[in-house]
Amino acid sequence: MPELPEVESLRLYLMSQDLIGRTVVDVSADWPGIENTSDGLGGLSQLRGRRITGLSRTGKNLLARLDHGVLWLHMGMTGRLAVMYPSDEPLRFARVTFFLDDERRVELDDPRRWAGVRFEESEAGLLSNVGPDALSVELTSDEFVRRVKTKRSPIKAVLMDQSVLAGVGNIYADEALHRAGIHPARRADRISEKRLTDLHTAVRTSLLQALCYIVDHPDERGRPYIVDAYDDRMRLQRKKDAICPDCGTPLQTRKIGGRTSYFCRQCQT
Ligand SMILES: [Zn+2]
Repeated sequence: MPELPEVESLRLYLMSQDLIGRTVVDVSADWPGIENTSDGLGGLSQLRGRRITGLSRTGKNLLARLDHGVLWLHMGMTGRLAVMYPSDEPLRFARVTFFLDDERRVELDDPRRWAGVRFEESEAGLLSNVGPDALSVELTSDEFVRRVKTKRSPIKAVLMDQSVLAGVGNIYADEALHRAGIHPARRADRISEKRLTDLHTAVRTSLLQALCYIVDHPDERGRPYIVDAYDDRMRLQRKKDAICPDCGTPLQTRKIGGRTSYFCRQCQT
């Protein structure tokens, strides 16, 4: 699932494609029930004639700022964005296509259809339930500890709670907890502030290392690819018979916060 590093790599890719200043001339969209919306496009017809003025990201949320309004994009489980040229065949699972004034188009490809896209007149309130970005300067170590230490949920669930901090999902929560030596099921309010400070560093390190890996490994078109179950950006192999990279003990799995956690019962306490 695209988490902070994957979504930031998408933003960097889109920035590299000189989309700022381009105008959206048309939109097509295809998802269940869209024909029943007022414009038959889920409100996206309002994008016509709008010029792209910026691309920002908070957690897993991408915002394309326009000369009027803002486009919110969320990649869900399997979404990705690709800039396409007139000679390119449409992507197989293209759900939304934004046609630009230079004949290129941006396609949102999403096999599982859980990606989100919405036009809003204003940015106000759009991300009101989203906490500070996990890599933002506002999320200092002290602020991280303050936001986490009163929670009575398992620390893994707290890390994945987008209202506490934004951008960490199932995979990078496991990576950070292994790096910090903290058991994913440990209650957040029972972890010392020293260990939470270490965890904040581990979160940042896990996200930044993954981002560097993704940026260094684009596909043949220069596009970032979306995470598979396991690759070299991760310490923990998410598969049967995987072992701890530090001590060699077989990794354990357990459902925490509705998601499968991989962890080492020797190294994580
Ligand atoms: Zn271990």
